[in-house]
Amino acid sequence: MNTNRLIVVSNRGPYHLHLTKQGLKREKTVGGLVTSILPMLETARGVWIAWGEPEGRFPGSPKQPSFDLRYLKLTPDQIQGYYYGLANTALWPLCHYFLGRVHYDNAQWQVYEQVNRQFAQATLGEAKPGDIIWIHDYHLTLVPRFLRAQQPSARIAFFWHIPFPSPELFCTLPWRRPLLESLLTCDLLGFHIPEYAENFIETAAEVLDAQCKGTTVEHHGLATQVLARPIGIDYDQVNRQARSLATEKRVRRLRKTLNGQRIIFGVERMDYTKGIFERLQAMEHLLERNPELRGTITLIQLVTPSRANVEAYRQKKREIDEIVGRINGRFSDGIWMPIRYQYRSFSLAELAAYYRAADIALVTPLRDGLNLVAKEYVASRVQTDGVLILSEFAGVAHQLPEALMVNPYNVEDMAAALKHALEMPKEEQHRRMQVMQARIKAEDISWWMKEFLDRMNGVAVQ
Ligand code: UDP
Repeated sequence: MNTNRLIVVSNRGPYHLHLTKQGLKREKTVGGLVTSILPMLETARGVWIAWGEPEGRFPGSPKQPSFDLRYLKLTPDQIQGYYYGLANTALWPLCHYFLGRVHYDNAQWQVYEQVNRQFAQATLGEAKPGDIIWIHDYHLTLVPRFLRAQQPSARIAFFWHIPFPSPELFCTLPWRRPLLESLLTCDLLGFHIPEYAENFIETAAEVLDAQCKGTTVEHHGLATQVLARPIGIDYDQVNRQARSLATEKRVRRLRKTLNGQRIIFGVERMDYTKGIFERLQAMEHLLERNPELRGTITLIQLVTPSRANVEAYRQKKREIDEIVGRINGRFSDGIWMPIRYQYRSFSLAELAAYYRAADIALVTPLRDGLNLVAKEYVASRVQTDGVLILSEFAGVAHQLPEALMVNPYNVEDMAAALKHALEMPKEEQHRRMQVMQARIKAEDISWWMKEFLDRMNGVAVQ
């Protein structure tokens, strides 16, 4: 019997698939979850179940041993209600502490429930006894309960990739009860950092009167182990890419174009949680107060299109386009331009060159579950120099206290951190960077995967 495979279930799969005359073409999707999980599945046997087109089962990777992709098709109404609706205008802003942006709609919840049931059915069709089912993220919170009802002995893990907010906030969710009850049918429930796990445990105790014994939560006769471990990156791969000859060439070209200016770098999906607008304000403040810096620094800001069907995202893009134009219009001198802004998707090879060239990385989300960009910057610093400026509201701040920490809501604080970074002596840069590198390398994606899978392998198969 084919046992102990890994069944990954997530909203989006690792690739956009295109059926062409030359065969199946894969185009990698962008985001933290895919960056982390893909290398993991490439070395395991199993199936990745996700929403995607074309519907069906496909080989997941040209590499061996391989996994399969199983894509589910959703109707336009389902996509609207489940994805753009409940997931992205209720759960996403709620969990990122943007209560003012939250929109609760019962019709959307019903669609969300229906889609989660569809994912559970597909999972039941794939899973064999002994397989480990690992569900990811806030889009699929009801899948565990549907699975458990039909397969009481299934081995189910769930990882929550975004922040889990404090009980006061979470309790505003009209469907808090079914959501929490479903998560408590899992054997193992993962969060990035202790704060999120503690918030979850407190909320479950308050709403469900669930009993907490150490890191295990008991409810309705089931025990769920709660574990906080921040997801890792494939450190060696990122570091190799940064050291490659191709990257070196790109870095040389970039430096030549910028003519000796110091490079400040930011990259993220277009999202109001990422603090891009506030960061641009900080750059403006810095240039306004420190005229001597004009002509000596450039902010390269890359933004990847995301959820453009949601009005809040379109609005944020308009604001960012406008402030970039204003700052460049205000400070450019005909040759020098303070902000180089690009709006498209970038490959790891392209990002590696920016990470390696950047004297300073600005990772200043207003709230972020973890943030892999910070880790990738650290892994790419092959000379162990460079300064990471990090928001105290990114989960990764818990793992990287050696970064320069800022409050992203405080524009002056960020401008001061930029000044501090520009003046930081090389020895201090090395000292901080080496500690961060050692930690990110030790706590890489294989470490993270082992932390969860070892525990799941310990869950009895009945
Ligand atoms: N990324 C990418 N191309 C881009 C922008 C981002 O491949 O154009 C990758 C980036 O390298 C990182 C991930 O997407 O691995 C972003 O993860 P993060 O946790 O920082 O943010 P998320 O997008 O998941 O909120």
